[in-house]
Amino acid sequence: MTTIPLVDLKAQYSAYKHEFDAAVEQCISSTSFIGGTAHAEFREAFAKFCGGGHAVLCGNGTDALYLVIRCVLGPGDNTKEIILPSHTFIATAEAIIMAGYVPVFVDIDPHTWIMTPELVARAITPRTKGIVPVHLYGQMVNMEGIMEIAADHGLAVIEDAAQAHGASWKGKGPGMYGDAACFSFYPGKNLGAWGDGGAIFTRDKSLAEAITMAANHGRKGKYFHETSGLNSRLDGIQAAVLNVKIRYLREWNERRRQIAALYDKAFCAVHAVVTPTVAKEADHVFHLYVIQVPERDRVLAGLHEQKIGAGIHYPVPLHEQPVFKGMDIAPEALPITHKLAGSIISLPIFPEMTPDQVDRVAQAVIGLVKE
Ligand SMILES: *Cc1c(COP(=O)(O)O)cnc(C)c1O
Repeated sequence: MTTIPLVDLKAQYSAYKHEFDAAVEQCISSTSFIGGTAHAEFREAFAKFCGGGHAVLCGNGTDALYLVIRCVLGPGDNTKEIILPSHTFIATAEAIIMAGYVPVFVDIDPHTWIMTPELVARAITPRTKGIVPVHLYGQMVNMEGIMEIAADHGLAVIEDAAQAHGASWKGKGPGMYGDAACFSFYPGKNLGAWGDGGAIFTRDKSLAEAITMAANHGRKGKYFHETSGLNSRLDGIQAAVLNVKIRYLREWNERRRQIAALYDKAFCAVHAVVTPTVAKEADHVFHLYVIQVPERDRVLAGLHEQKIGAGIHYPVPLHEQPVFKGMDIAPEALPITHKLAGSIISLPIFPEMTPDQVDRVAQAVIGLVKE
């Protein structure tokens, strides 16, 4: 029995080996390890991919979020609040805390499993300064609704698009609504480097300049530091790899949608399996294909026994994490998030996945839920 991994990075490397090797070799022979041609080229290509505006490349997705919060709102004093969903990766909350703000967790929609404008509206207090919508699994939050609330209350909107390269809401992608969108190029993401990497996309030129400075020791020129920043840059080699990959990203996202459609079809008559709901305004890029099943732990163990690399994103909601114990939020305070965490499974999905592999995974799930 062969293994079907959650994501198969080897398949992608072998398919485009010559292009990758040439791009990396070029970077090494020109010793463009920081900055350089590949870096500048990728920055332009990524901004264009996002819809035309300004991209800033940085060290990882967590830094991207931190840098934007810092530059849009200024350093916080640990009393002002930023709203985010509890159902997300820890980095979303970490960036808020690093910037000096208090994370305020909200619940999610029971069908799309992402934040809604209604839930955000209810969490606003006189201390609220910003909203971080998370386009989880590759589906964008209703950004029109979020922007209306933000305008009414004068709030910053920082989009966490770490799982949503190429996604859209009514035809417009991350960063076309909010102040800026933050991306991660962690290897397993839809657009992944060969190590850590991140980017910010914004339509605001002066914000892009401020973030560029903050990410590079607060400097514009070589020796003059205008603000106190940090070292968060994307390596030349990572930029070279991403430059190759971005050419195929739309094609790969389309493959992911096709695989999701195959899964949907396989599960459509199986009532025990709840498949993802996609809002009609959204173009989903399926970074993850997540289902809800009864007896999740037994089904997950069964998949692992059959050498299927399924995962859970995420098994413990942020409001229930040990690190936030001090906030004293009851698990049931966010009932949908709490319940979802106990019933979800992420199934393998990657552009090179074959219909036979999809079928093997789907049949394994169906067999297990019927036991
Ligand atoms: C991956 C991810 C991040 C963080 O990105 P890193 O590059 O790993 O720092 C933030 N938010 C979400 C939702 C993510 O999936």
